[in-house]
Amino acid sequence: MNRKKKYRSKVKKICPKHKCTLINAFTVYGLRFECPHDDCTVACWNGSTSTPADLETRTMRITAHKEFDMLWKAEWRLRLGLTRQELYKRLAKILTLEVCKTHIGYFDINLCSKVIVFAEQLKSNYLKKVARHEA
Ligand SMILES: [Zn+2]
Repeated sequence: MNRKKKYRSKVKKICPKHKCTLINAFTVYGLRFECPHDDCTVACWNGSTSTPADLETRTMRITAHKEFDMLWKAEWRLRLGLTRQELYKRLAKILTLEVCKTHIGYFDINLCSKVIVFAEQLKSNYLKKVARHEA
């Protein structure tokens, strides 16, 4: 990861399937990298917050991000009383990763599904707690 940061401006992004260099294109959303193989869905955005991944992985990352962000962005943040940093620390511990490596943009499908389980468990634990109080 350090090497990547150092050469960020001229970093080469590699397709994990074909091991070839991704070609870049400017889009309305910014610089986008894509695999030159027609049948390959591997792509990523410029920057160091995500690694190249196929469509399936990117879709899972979006879902995992949504579920995780809900914990600290919306009403769940108030309910759980946890900040974004605290949630990332907890997630890192569960995934046995360093906090600095806990970026959903780096995750594969397996790790993404663990993020979704993490979010669901926090929510259901909270709901159980409420249910106990009401009983
Ligand atoms: Zn490819």
